[in-house]
Amino acid sequence: MATLRDTPELCSGEAHSQWGLIRCLHGEVHPAVFFVIQGSTFSLCSGRCTLVCMAKRVYLFQGTNLVVPVDMKDGEVLGGLDPETLRGDFGEPEYYGVPPILHSDAAGMLPGFLLPPDRPVPPAWRTFPVLGAALSSGPAGPPGTAAGGNLSAAAGRLLRIYHVLQWRKDSAYCGSCGGANEDSPVELARLCPRCGRIEYPRISPAVITLVQNDDGQALLAHNIKFKPKLYSLIAGFTEAGECLEATVVREVKEEVNLDVDTIRYVTSQSWPFPNSLMVGFAARYKGGQLKCDGTEIVDAQWFTRESVLGGTPELPGPGSVSRYIIDRWLTGGP
Ligand SMILES: [Zn+2]
Repeated sequence: MATLRDTPELCSGEAHSQWGLIRCLHGEVHPAVFFVIQGSTFSLCSGRCTLVCMAKRVYLFQGTNLVVPVDMKDGEVLGGLDPETLRGDFGEPEYYGVPPILHSDAAGMLPGFLLPPDRPVPPAWRTFPVLGAALSSGPAGPPGTAAGGNLSAAAGRLLRIYHVLQWRKDSAYCGSCGGANEDSPVELARLCPRCGRIEYPRISPAVITLVQNDDGQALLAHNIKFKPKLYSLIAGFTEAGECLEATVVREVKEEVNLDVDTIRYVTSQSWPFPNSLMVGFAARYKGGQLKCDGTEIVDAQWFTRESVLGGTPELPGPGSVSRYIIDRWLTGGP
């Protein structure tokens, strides 16, 4: 019998799982499955003790926030928690109402738990926005890093586990026959044992486009949801049957009545709020009279680099893919 404290032999660095017995925090012995993934060992107890995670670092989520100790510095939130810190206040299964959702995979992802939205956060804990944590690592790396845009690989790992946990919560039941889904034993998927339907994490692509005219000016638009004076790029979700370039053409036409061509891919960025993949483009103004749709976009203007560098208009915050593309244009990019 292994205990929570004396299972280092399981941590061989190989990805595998095995059944064993653990002595839980309540001193009881339970069968449990141990997962060993890239050096991190954690176990999922089948008894009443649902929180027996043995990963090196974990995340605890509630809604779009992380739950962290009150004395944890903002800049440390991205690094996750020692699972030991969770046991005192969150170790009881009744705290969750339903068993906590824990997930990891062979990509070495950090595991995380979901706290139901109606559960109070204990006094020694506070919430911190997932997005704020992702941005706390600062701009890092060129496009092609885990999260894309100007988010770091560490931010990408956080966004991935957040995305997967939300999807697991929302895929409890089969969308075809209503049966209770189970985890696929071979891949990151949900499997309906009743009808065989397989569901993968949902990812919804959306384009975001910088339109530039032949005078080198960029079209920036004010969305009705933005704070005053803030302008950004034209964006919208890809519709069924569309390729991404077609989405760019349609969205620009719908929102500001312009025609574009010479559409070039710039970068992409995970945006799991709840499940988007932002795909960034640059396009050339081909023709048409600027006219906002009036419902989503209430103003749009051509701006020079000098104007934007001088502070007009206000731009989206660092970390967003729109800001990445605008900054790239400001330094001479298309
Ligand atoms: Zn089904």
